[in-house]
Amino acid sequence: MTQWLFPPAQTPGLPIAGRTERFPVRRILCVGQNYAAHAREMGHERAEPFFFSKPADALLTDGAHPTYPTATGNLHHEVELVCAIGEDGDIIGWAVGCDLTRRDLQAAAKDKGRPWDAAKGFDQSAPCGALTLGALPDPAAAIALTVNGQTRQSGRLDDMVWSPVEVLEKARTLWDVQAGDLIFTGTPEGVGPLVPGDRVEAMIAGLSPLSFTVRPR
Ligand code: MN
Repeated sequence: MTQWLFPPAQTPGLPIAGRTERFPVRRILCVGQNYAAHAREMGHERAEPFFFSKPADALLTDGAHPTYPTATGNLHHEVELVCAIGEDGDIIGWAVGCDLTRRDLQAAAKDKGRPWDAAKGFDQSAPCGALTLGALPDPAAAIALTVNGQTRQSGRLDDMVWSPVEVLEKARTLWDVQAGDLIFTGTPEGVGPLVPGDRVEAMIAGLSPLSFTVRPR
């Protein structure tokens, strides 16, 4: 038995719809600019997918609410389809996630050619709904996000430049993708700011919805 200096942190996990077991999360990979219109609004044309990551403990689950983060005046929402990797190394389930982003820090990092960790991988930056095990939702399924009842993002999964399976194949050329990994597959157009008190509802047809309220600091 390993003797730890102090008790190790708990393994982050996702609830699974209709099951008592939780999905143990190993790490979170995210793909950037994977919807053509969002890539255009960010100033990019179709290109090879690129990845960044969030720490597994950036997950926020089970209806928890994020606190407005420090060090930003421009917190953005990005609704995303999340793929969950099972023991065979393939996608076994799907969830609705939100890639919370300190857009001002991301812009500064892009300007200076610096890493995105503080812009993307901060605490509570990955609210995620319950996992649904099984086949990919209908590729024509709607993906949408509302803030205080107003639609901000609305698209279809087949607006993706790279499909979830293609994203996984690309990820495998870069990492030894393993059971417990999550992949956030990018966001449709309409990303925008959140302020404390905002109520966010994120949905993908066929999956458990995600909702949270941004808490003041
Ligand atoms: Mn994103």
